[in-house]
Amino acid sequence: MHNSETELETQRSKDIFKVVQHMAKIGGWEIDLHKDSLFWTEETYLLHDTTPENYTPTVASAINFYAPEWIPIIRLALKTAIEKGISFDHELELITATGRRIWVHVYGTVVLKDGHASKVLGAFQDISDKKKAELEIWQKSNFDFLTELPNRRMFRYCLEKKIKAARRSNTKVALLFIDLDHFKEINDTYGHDWGDSVIKDAAGRLNDCIRDSDTLARLGGDEFTIIIDDLNDYCPVQRIVNDILKKMSEPFQIEAEVAYMSASIGITLYPDNATEIDALLKYADQAMYVAKDQGRNRFQYYTTSMQEAALARRVIVNNLRVALANNEFQVVYQPIVELNSNSIHKAEALIRWHHPTRGLISPADFISVAEETGLIIDIGEWIFQQAAQQVKLWRRSFNPDFQISVNTSPVQYHNTDNKLNLWINYLSGLNLPGSAIVAEITEGVLMDIHSEILDKLRAFREENIQISLDDFGTGYSSLSYLRKFEIDYLKIDQSFVRNMKSNSKDIALCEAIIAMAHKLGITVIAEGIETLEHKDLLIKAGCDFGQGYLFSKPLSAIDFQAMLVTQQNNESRQLV
Ligand code: C2E
Ligand code: MG
Ligand code: MG
Repeated sequence: MHNSETELETQRSKDIFKVVQHMAKIGGWEIDLHKDSLFWTEETYLLHDTTPENYTPTVASAINFYAPEWIPIIRLALKTAIEKGISFDHELELITATGRRIWVHVYGTVVLKDGHASKVLGAFQDISDKKKAELEIWQKSNFDFLTELPNRRMFRYCLEKKIKAARRSNTKVALLFIDLDHFKEINDTYGHDWGDSVIKDAAGRLNDCIRDSDTLARLGGDEFTIIIDDLNDYCPVQRIVNDILKKMSEPFQIEAEVAYMSASIGITLYPDNATEIDALLKYADQAMYVAKDQGRNRFQYYTTSMQEAALARRVIVNNLRVALANNEFQVVYQPIVELNSNSIHKAEALIRWHHPTRGLISPADFISVAEETGLIIDIGEWIFQQAAQQVKLWRRSFNPDFQISVNTSPVQYHNTDNKLNLWINYLSGLNLPGSAIVAEITEGVLMDIHSEILDKLRAFREENIQISLDDFGTGYSSLSYLRKFEIDYLKIDQSFVRNMKSNSKDIALCEAIIAMAHKLGITVIAEGIETLEHKDLLIKAGCDFGQGYLFSKPLSAIDFQAMLVTQQNNESRQLV
């Protein structure tokens, strides 16, 4: 090969190499250790936003292009490589001549001559795009999209770090669990966009209540957590909690609408309540539920008795799972008396649980657990079947119109396998019309405007299964529910009846409820009648039916039957 050809070849390689470097955003450099000089390739100048005219690279000055926090690192890497004759490899940040901050991957390798380092050859690659993508992925996996707050994962990481720091510095940490009250209803009523705005607004308010050093995170839905650390005593916690309750109860304005909300807060303290993260989290959650149970819009510090209650609850859950199979349930019946005639042709079926070791457990203590675990579906089904078999007998031997009311839980209406639809089949299997059974519902069922639920209730009514609205006056007592769905009976809650004396406000309320119900064609049943005075006042107010200890406590089927026999005998005696 001629000399000129070799030169041509070399030139071509150089040109191609330049394009390759440009495309890969890779610049080369070389330090000559003997001359203490630095050489940059064209791409390296471009990377630094400068040109050979404007800048002459030197080892001492080039290092100043690194962002200040990276300078000690690159110095050490270079020094070690030269001393040991090895290469190095780092990702760090440069500040270019125009002030752009970019991420570069720096690689350097030492060239030895006679066993000594003579040169360092290296390359730079602009990896800003890769870093940006990495950051985005990190953001997505650690931060909540809607509020830009740390998510559950990041929150756990922060909590772990803060607990470790507190352990070292002997300080305290408070963990707050915050749940918005009635958020679900807001979401259902106004739609998800509205719900999102409320969450964002709530996040902003929470952020206003904390110090810069505290961590606010969104765990999902309407659940937030706050970590308050570096505490010597718990005074700041109380201030923050009070602030939160106040800020959250201010109206939420979105577009032209105004909604009111509140928050329930559970609080655990490190190290007083627990030292492990999972326990702290669990306890804060338990405390939050206690705050909700006590009426919402409040805070609750964790106490050991909550743990005991949670334990007792777990025992109930476990025992409840086998109670049906073990025949531990019983149905008792309480007469529903026609107030004008004293005659009994209606009864309410009420469940009793005879626990093998703990004796009788009241429905108040296990119905909510059965609902939360979904066990209420099978239990409710069993109660209904018992009541249906019973009403068949009593229709035959006492009154062909006998009717039994069965309490139903909102959970049974949400259930997708639609066991309630089987009621009709079961009744016709027993040769019974729908009118033999009344389904008692609470306002909780009607509050959920889900069309599915209304469909189920309509299906009942089409088959003549009547609907009774239980505990009226304790919940929202909203007349709008009565408009939304036609019901047959309204049961005035015993809390009204209990305090009733002539001229009292409660009697006025009862009168108003009765008058209103009658206007809507609804029959009224008063619950909890314990005295003759109650009964007389209710008769005067126009109430149709009554239920209560004055007439009878709930009775076993056998005792109820005996009572019916007595009634029958009395009636026939009167006829004679
Ligand atoms: P509820 O449906 O409002 O039933 C009336 C409750 O008041 C019954 O309590 C009854 O024993 C009690 N009671 C009746 N008359 C009087 C009275 O004169 N004075 C007083 N102080 N109390 C009276 P119980 O049986 O303990 O049931 C409590 C609640 O548990 C029921 O309230 C109902 O909501 C629920 N429950 C009971 N059985 C079932 C069931 O089979 N399924 C469902 N889902 N819930 C049930
Ligand atoms: Mg009831
Ligand atoms: Mg009731």
